[in-house]
Amino acid sequence: MLWKCSVCGLVHEGPEAPEKCPKCGAPKEKFVALSDDDAKKVYASDRTNDIHMEIIRLSMKIADLADEGVKLNLDPACVSTFRQAKNEVWIIKQRSKAELAGHMAKGKW
Ligand SMILES: [Zn+2]
Repeated sequence: MLWKCSVCGLVHEGPEAPEKCPKCGAPKEKFVALSDDDAKKVYASDRTNDIHMEIIRLSMKIADLADEGVKLNLDPACVSTFRQAKNEVWIIKQRSKAELAGHMAKGKW
């Protein structure tokens, strides 16, 4: 069962609402039980947002590797490949960040 704090939006998972909101301190009465449909959306959003965050993390890792490759400067083709990878991964990262920002604005969190 999922419960949403009507004051700050925190979602609590459990058989009942918490005594008080762990984020804003609102009392139990301020929690509303989510319908099955809304709960499904919350779980889908949660996993989707985690995937976006993992993609952002991996993009940063790829950018770091590309930087290292550029510095090693083995030959022009390698340097060019690493520069391209860094540019491409920037787009991947920004796309996921924009999508996450959209989710937060729409309460898909
Ligand atoms: Zn709260």
